Amino acid sequence: MRDRIVAAIDAARTELVELARRVHANPEIGFQERQAATWLTETLERHGFAVERGVAGLETAFRAEVRGARDRPAVAVLAEYDALPEIGHACGHNLICTAAVGAGLGLAAVRDALPGRAVVLGTPAEEGGGGKVIMLQGGAFDGIDAAMMFHPAGYTMAGRPSLASYRLQVKFTGKAAHAAAAPDEGINALDALIQTFVAIGLLRQQVRDDARIHGIVTYGGAAPNIIPDRAEAVFTVRAADGAYALEVLHRVVHCAQGAAQATGATLEHVVRKGYDAIKPNRTMADRFARHLERLGYPPDAPPDRPRMGSTDMGDVSQAIPSIHPYVAIGPKDLPGHTVAFREAALSERGMGAMLAAAKALALTAYDLLADPELLAAVRREFEGESARVA
Ligand SMILES: [Zn+2]
Ligand SMILES: [Zn+2]
Repeated sequence: MRDRIVAAIDAARTELVELARRVHANPEIGFQERQAATWLTETLERHGFAVERGVAGLETAFRAEVRGARDRPAVAVLAEYDALPEIGHACGHNLICTAAVGAGLGLAAVRDALPGRAVVLGTPAEEGGGGKVIMLQGGAFDGIDAAMMFHPAGYTMAGRPSLASYRLQVKFTGKAAHAAAAPDEGINALDALIQTFVAIGLLRQQVRDDARIHGIVTYGGAAPNIIPDRAEAVFTVRAADGAYALEVLHRVVHCAQGAAQATGATLEHVVRKGYDAIKPNRTMADRFARHLERLGYPPDAPPDRPRMGSTDMGDVSQAIPSIHPYVAIGPKDLPGHTVAFREAALSERGMGAMLAAAKALALTAYDLLADPELLAAVRREFEGESARVA
């Protein structure tokens, strides 16, 4: 069976590489990935998938399925295809979506022997839009027993967590006054904002190593000769677990409240939950790593200092056993969201990693569908960890 799956993906090599290049050449930002969604679903349909578009009310989300003997178990391979504003496919999502389609083609080739369902889920807007969160809430993951995807990187690693995140918007309102003639009559909203940044800078010493607080000023006043009556900023607060991220968020809000009191400005703030932390399923990750190693991609040693962001796959992994492995497309120090990463996502090495990821995903999905003991072990691990967290 392994050979049939691998051979089917090899046979589709030209088609998959061409698709990865086309998506790369036509970057579309979150929720606007219309061309990518069209090209991906057309390819899946050509290879026998039944496709539903506009899933969970999202125009560019899709669900493609091939059904074997039964509906369950069902394993989903996730496709991301959004680009970043201005810089394009600097996160390599063109490789993620084509690997997911490739894995789908591998599984479709053995559909006569599939005990359950193989699903390719098109999940829009990973870069800040949280397409997977909306799809989870909209029931798009109902009836799925395990979910997986791959992400390109500078290293190869099967199981790795991510950071939980929160978004915080703050707005200070003061009182405008002539900055030279009557500054004593003003209340300086920008002072409150600057004090907030300073207080956060001091707070950083008293938080855990995994915490991250980063923000930008989105409005700081109209002119230097007017005491600003309004100042606004946006922050992201992250940590290795959601509970600690929330605790740090509260302390950041206290920094802003203190600044409001000190300056006399009034504070309004809005908190939006970002993404949950990834809970990697070790049982699934080990199986994926074994397949990937046989394909010539041994895992790299974990870095001394983990460098992590956040992803909406975190939310999926808290709901369903999941993996979000990384496969190297460039040197170890390849930084994400850069021109160098964008070039790596179009390179020969990038295409090779995409095809290997497609094969390892398909083989792992097949194992989960065909081996009830493996799926039971995956579930046991997931439920055991959930019980410990609760
Ligand atoms: Zn990214
Ligand atoms: Zn990404």
